[in-house]
Amino acid sequence: MPLVQENVSLKPYNSFGIPVNARFFVDVDTEDGLQDLLSSGQAENQELLVLGGGSNILFTKDFQGLVIKVSIRGISHLADSEQVIVTAGAGVVWNDLVTYCVSNGFAGMENLTLIPGTVGASPIQNIGAYGVELKDVFHSCKAYNIKTGASKAFTFDECHFGYRESSFKKELKGQYIISSVNFKLNKSAVVNTSYGAIEAELLARKISTPTIADVSSVVAAIRVSKLPDPSTIGNAGSFFKNPIISVAEYTEIARSFPDLVHYPVGQTHIKLAAGWLIEQCGFKGIVVGQTGTWKNQALVIVNHGAATGQEVYSFSERIIATVYNKFSVKLEREVNIL
Ligand SMILES: Cc1cc2nc3c(=O)[nH]c(=O)nc-3n(C[C@H](O)[C@H](O)[C@H](O)COP(=O)(O)OP(=O)(O)OC[C@H]3O[C@@H](n4cnc5c(N)ncnc54)[C@H](O)[C@@H]3O)c2cc1C
Repeated sequence: MPLVQENVSLKPYNSFGIPVNARFFVDVDTEDGLQDLLSSGQAENQELLVLGGGSNILFTKDFQGLVIKVSIRGISHLADSEQVIVTAGAGVVWNDLVTYCVSNGFAGMENLTLIPGTVGASPIQNIGAYGVELKDVFHSCKAYNIKTGASKAFTFDECHFGYRESSFKKELKGQYIISSVNFKLNKSAVVNTSYGAIEAELLARKISTPTIADVSSVVAAIRVSKLPDPSTIGNAGSFFKNPIISVAEYTEIARSFPDLVHYPVGQTHIKLAAGWLIEQCGFKGIVVGQTGTWKNQALVIVNHGAATGQEVYSFSERIIATVYNKFSVKLEREVNIL
């Protein structure tokens, strides 16, 4: 039975580095341990937080309930001549899984190189980067119902993936703990280099027929140059989602801002670049007390060392209000606020 500790600092467990405490904290590293915990009744009648790497969370106050840190490890695979099913424990570090797949020649997740966090959190917001989303490689996952302790396999269709969305963030919110995820990858590599920055970096490296290892290496280099490393400066990556608006709304805004950065989403909608909107409001690289935005990417809010969660949250409110006043676009937070 995993040991439940009291009054544990969550500072090492969130990439913003916010110094809050959890009233109760338990680290679960096996499925049996998870089952034991759920059947012990200790997870009942109190607020619960399932925690992976804490890289998509902003704590604004102490957590008064039980934090369940999921550390279930293990990666294995089953292959036929064409396809591979890779299974990883929810506590596996996401990038360790990407490295495993790339080094074994399993194609599909190389564009998702260096995204922080764990495998178990990857379906929650359908992580994505450089033209690929988790849903493109997701096969199924196993999860435990927090109330009943029963396990269930979720198929792709049951997860209702969308842009930074899944059923685990909506209708199933707070109901399940994912213990492992199965991924469907290819043995024959069809690399996705459609993203401008990838193409440019491949060109700079004089690589004309990239392997998945090349794409992974290029994505890693781009990310390191653009994003702050949470081990040196606290952050949770993109703080806001890119807003998706109707074509009619876009046309209206573009009348006043003809250089509005945008990408079509099907025939009826347009995705705006939240980072561009924030930058146009003069926020890129600004420092406000202990918080601010990253110098190379306005979409990333950072902790300059001693920020409180409240300070970061208030700053995000200011960004939302300013962007709304200028563009009439309401930014939505990607980061989970607690
Ligand atoms: C520098 C940086 C860059 C980033 N870049 C990207 C990017 O390119 N694309 C992208 O999509 N994201 C990005 N992120 C955000 C983050 O990496 C992802 O959201 C990641 O999936 C979070 O994983 P985690 O284990 O840290 O989750 P946590 O922050 O611990 O949790 C996130 C959510 O998932 C839930 N959760 C976690 N584990 C489980 C589980 N086993 N079962 C059920 N629920 C669970 C939590 O309760 C919470 O609601 C970035 C973050 C940083 C710091």
